[in-house]
Amino acid sequence: MTAPDVRNVVIIGSGPAGLTAAIYTARANLAPLVIEGEPSSTSDQPGGQLMLTTEVENFPGFPEGVMGPELMTRFREQALRFGAEILTEKVSRVDLSAQPYGVWIGDPQAAEPTYRAHAVIVSTGAQSIMLGLEAEKRLLGHGLSTCATCDGFFFRDHDIAVVGGGDSALEEATFLTKFARSVTIIHRRDQLRASKIMQDRAFANDKIRFHWNAVVEDILGEETVEGVVVRDVHSDERTTLPVTGVFVAIGHKPNTDLFKGILDMEDSGYLVTGPGTATNVDGVFACGDVQDSTYRQAITAAGSGCMAAIDAERWLEARGVH
Ligand code: NAP
Repeated sequence: MTAPDVRNVVIIGSGPAGLTAAIYTARANLAPLVIEGEPSSTSDQPGGQLMLTTEVENFPGFPEGVMGPELMTRFREQALRFGAEILTEKVSRVDLSAQPYGVWIGDPQAAEPTYRAHAVIVSTGAQSIMLGLEAEKRLLGHGLSTCATCDGFFFRDHDIAVVGGGDSALEEATFLTKFARSVTIIHRRDQLRASKIMQDRAFANDKIRFHWNAVVEDILGEETVEGVVVRDVHSDERTTLPVTGVFVAIGHKPNTDLFKGILDMEDSGYLVTGPGTATNVDGVFACGDVQDSTYRQAITAAGSGCMAAIDAERWLEARGVH
């Protein structure tokens, strides 16, 4: 049995948070190892949610906009340039009970971890919960979106549907009325889950309509969205709404299964951090969407990745590790 390779910092996840942490820790001479994930059922490539986006117009420094995958490729190249090592694998288990911490790739039952790390940065991100329709794969980024803040601007004068009845759906719908001609909220019940204040705001908005007791059965269009087919849950009657944009806002799921029972998390699964990016385990830091259910932007994830890198660097320095 070979002894595990002991690293200063292992970064788990490769979205804007993880790769920014990699750039900063690499430039601090910590030779970080980034375990970037691997293709999965929800993504063809590692790199986080931006790999599923088309044009990004709100990332500062790109006045003409940039494609999401290209932006992530640039983050990755920048991390590599300063000496980060990037491994296209998935972490299968962590042991954060004793330092240096254990990180497994492959068989989680293996007696020895694949790597040990003095500090760990968790940046495994979150996923938008989707409806599970075949059309979502084809149209995501082509009229179908999960982020109004990111994509609302592209829908000026469009008729749009928002799916969901929680705070996210109402917040997105209200925001989208700045651009859209109309916004139809499609909800599977006749009562909203959203808070009263959000409901009042939406009900008072002339551009917002409600399609109650309805589930989306299909999203039409090959290259771009041309309509949605909804089914009334009581009568089974199907109707096609002639919208050219669809926002799915039925919740998010942070990727925290690896850390259940190990790191403190909210009931919703988001990791709890603070002060700064510290988790409840000494030397383990978390950044990006895995610990942020509020802002969820590439720039905020990148900012918190920088914070985690600085927190990890100071933590290592205080212990004389580096
Ligand atoms: P949420 O509260 O879980 O609401 C999800 C909504 O989507 C529900 O209305 C649910 O319907 C519906 N839904 C779930 N699965 C569905 C499916 N497969 N098909 C159709 N509809 C489906 O999620 P959220 O709105 O993202 O909010 C998450 C948390 O963040 C909440 O605590 C919320 O208060 C908070 N948040 C706060 C703000 C704010 O204060 N500004 C903004 C956004 C989010 P049912 O109602 O029938 O279950």
